Amino acid sequence: MDMKGKTVIVSGSSRGIGKAIAERFCELGAQVVVSGTTESIHAVCADLRAAGFSATAVQSDISRPEGAQQLVDAAVEAYGTVDILVNNAGITRDKLLIRMEEEDWDRVMDINLKGTFLLTKAAAKVMMKKRTGRIINISSVVGVMGNAGQSNYAASKAGLIGFTKSIARELAPRNITCNAIAPGFIETQMTDGLPEAVKEAYLKSIPAGRYGTPSEVADLTVFLASGQSAYITGQVIQLDGGLHM
Ligand code: NAP
Repeated sequence: MDMKGKTVIVSGSSRGIGKAIAERFCELGAQVVVSGTTESIHAVCADLRAAGFSATAVQSDISRPEGAQQLVDAAVEAYGTVDILVNNAGITRDKLLIRMEEEDWDRVMDINLKGTFLLTKAAAKVMMKKRTGRIINISSVVGVMGNAGQSNYAASKAGLIGFTKSIARELAPRNITCNAIAPGFIETQMTDGLPEAVKEAYLKSIPAGRYGTPSEVADLTVFLASGQSAYITGQVIQLDGGLHM
C-alpha cells in the first residue's frame, strides 16, 4: 500500500492506537499531522522526524472549535491539503449511571463526539473542494453492544456510528468515503488501567483468545484510507477477535 504524497491528520496520536496509526502512515510514505493535548506530542513528532518521516505536531484540545481547526490549518500550511482524516482522539470516564456526574458525561461527549464533528467539518471543507478524501472514525464495539459502567462512552461511540453513516451519505457524491472502525479490547494505556478481574473477564469472552494490538487497528485504518477501499463507505467494521458478532 502506497501513501506517498498523502497528507493525513490523526487526532489523539501521542500514544496507543493513534500513535500506531500515525507511524504506519509515515512508513507508507505519507506526511502526518499528529495531535494531543499534552507536551508529549512534540516528542512523538520529533521521533518521527528523526526516523526520516514528515510530521507536524499540534498540541490542542479537539473539543474546542479553534483546537480542531488548528489541526487542519497545520496540515494545509505544512503540506497544502488534507487527504485523510482519522478521528481517533477519545477518553473514558467509566462509572455506573447512578454515580456518573454531569461532568463525566459532558467531557466524554465533548471529546469523543463533538471533537469528531468539529474536526470533520473543518477537514471536509478542504476535501470537498478537491472532490476526494477519506474519513475514518475510531468508534468502539461498546458503541454497538453497550457496556455496564460505560454509558457515556458507549453513547458517544454509538453517536459516532450515526455520524459516520450520515457523513458517508452527504459526502459520497464528492468522492469522499467515511467509515468507522469498532475495535474491541486493544492493549493500550486506556485499557492498562482496568482492574485485572475486568481484563480476565474480557479475555474469556473473546473467541480469538487474546487482546488486539494498536498495529492491527492501523492495518485496517490504512486499508480504509487506500485506493483499494474506494467503494466502501458508511460501514462500521468490527475489529474485536469475535467479541461481538
Ligand atoms: P489512549 O492511549 O488513552 O490515547 C488517547 C489519545 O487521545 C492520546 O493521544 C491523547 O493525548 C488524545 N486525546 C485525548 N483527549 C484529547 C483531546 N481533547 N484533544 C486531542 N487529543 C486528545 O487511548 P487508545 O486506547 O489509544 O484509544 C484511541 C481511540 O480508540 C479512542 O477513541 C478510544 O475510544 C478508541 N478505542 C480504544 C479501545 C481500546 O481497547 N484501547 C477500544 C475501542 C476503541 P493527550 O493525553 O496528550 O491528550
